[in-house]
Amino acid sequence: MKLPTIVFNINKKQKAEKERKKKWDIRMMKASKHIGTWSKDLSTKVGCVIVNDENRIIATGYNGFPAGVHEDEERFFRPLKYKYTEHSERNAFYYAAKEGIALKGCTLYVDWIPCADCARGIIGVGLKRVVIEDPNHNFERWGEDFKITLTMLKEAGIEVEVFNEFDKELWKGFDTKGYNGDSGEF
Ligand SMILES: [Zn+2]
Repeated sequence: MKLPTIVFNINKKQKAEKERKKKWDIRMMKASKHIGTWSKDLSTKVGCVIVNDENRIIATGYNGFPAGVHEDEERFFRPLKYKYTEHSERNAFYYAAKEGIALKGCTLYVDWIPCADCARGIIGVGLKRVVIEDPNHNFERWGEDFKITLTMLKEAGIEVEVFNEFDKELWKGFDTKGYNGDSGEF
């Protein structure tokens, strides 16, 4: 007679843990979206946060020029901007390297899907989990990159969790105009 009670309690505990995890995922994804708004990029603003196993933010990043590099107008346009702009994820990695913060075993939240270049960085710095926006493989410019990213992360044994872009809870309080989902460009 006791067994069902135990099973019930385990299920209850698991459910509570799942809810707690989701709550933190939403908080961190919101934080990454907020940080993305600091980007000066004209078409795509991407932010990320890296958290440790105590849900503390230990590094952040958004896409933009390296600190100190002049923000001349022509540098904001393609193709030149590709040379001057660093992606949010790698900006967070470089910040952590500069400050001596270990990223091994941490989780990255990014309101986009990492490109293949950043995916190699994710593996290289030792992240264990990546929470991303709903990938859209139809983007002409990035579709192939995204597939390679997901393939590499999977092969490297990194847990990838996908947030739906249209998750109402996630987008609440955000003006989504001008966010990456609109343009599909970078
Ligand atoms: Zn990237």
